[in-house]
Amino acid sequence: MNRDDIHACAERILRGRPLHRREAESLAELPADLLPDLFAAASRIREHHRGRVVRCCSIVAAKIGACGEDCAFCSQSGHYRTPVCQPAELPPEQVLQAAQAAAANGAEAFGVVNSGYAPDDGDIDRWGAVIRAIRDRGTMRACASLGCLDADQARRLADWGTACYNHNLQTSRRFFPRIVTTHSYDDRLATLRHVRQAGMMVCSGALFGMGETWADRFDLLFELRDLAPDIVPLNFLIPIAGTPLEHRPRLPAMECLRIIALARLILPDREIKVAGGREACLGDLQSWIFLAGADSFLIGNYLTTLGRSPEEDRRMVQQLGLTLARPVGSSCEAGQRLQVAAASPACPCPGHNLPA
Ligand code: SF4
Repeated sequence: MNRDDIHACAERILRGRPLHRREAESLAELPADLLPDLFAAASRIREHHRGRVVRCCSIVAAKIGACGEDCAFCSQSGHYRTPVCQPAELPPEQVLQAAQAAAANGAEAFGVVNSGYAPDDGDIDRWGAVIRAIRDRGTMRACASLGCLDADQARRLADWGTACYNHNLQTSRRFFPRIVTTHSYDDRLATLRHVRQAGMMVCSGALFGMGETWADRFDLLFELRDLAPDIVPLNFLIPIAGTPLEHRPRLPAMECLRIIALARLILPDREIKVAGGREACLGDLQSWIFLAGADSFLIGNYLTTLGRSPEEDRRMVQQLGLTLARPVGSSCEAGQRLQVAAASPACPCPGHNLPA
């Protein structure tokens, strides 16, 4: 592909013709000197659908550790000898404080996240009540990510007021068994079906940098295109000591940006959210996520590590001439302090990260 071919692809996408897999494969092989054109094409599609507005959300690890699953990237799995987080759970009032801090920082949505394969009845009702309280404040969308759900659990969470449910597919069907053996890809797909049937928005994306090939990445991105989640989080692996992926090299920043751009071209009108690994993998190029086609990002802390300060992120958005979808509320400094306290419950371990 040359420069003209790239811009012709973007033109066809804007006219409603989906990107073909063969075109995506060619774009993944572009030489470095053509990457600015790929980013310009992705950015043009983002602006067509979103204008100059970008969105951010925030999460809190309401329950961490002690997980019976064996996800190879995860510090919270009980299968690996990681610098272990003790199992811990935040009291509901601390989750609400974290939500308040997120609102003060400009987040338009706030997600309550649990470790583990699936929530039990107590989790649904306890976090459901918190979610309802967040919803009733009326400042942010209330979201959850509690693991696999059956149809009844999805309905109950929706009844509590959960607007959106996150459940990432993580990788391709083919590569998934190399990453997780304690549950199946179909378990994850079934959860997404239940979420949609219950009337919640679907948030589902991936984790890149686990050793997958570009073919795996395209299998996943085209599967997501078929599923049409409302939000597609893109995470980049931070290898954790003690996990099977501890020696994986971090993805180079330009490869992360190429993935973001391909995601925008394949899923042109979806919310493409850059989540875990942004600071670690993109470093000084974080602001390029928008130039590469993302229109959304996670602000504040991740599940078990601290992100950079919300002030820096807001400054980045402003310097790019972009606007946050939700205006910033009250004092950010106070909000940040609350968030740090709430998102790091009893975990003294350095370097933990579970991509959102
Ligand atoms: S990603 Fe979730 S399900 Fe997998 S080991 Fe970590 S906490 Fe458990």
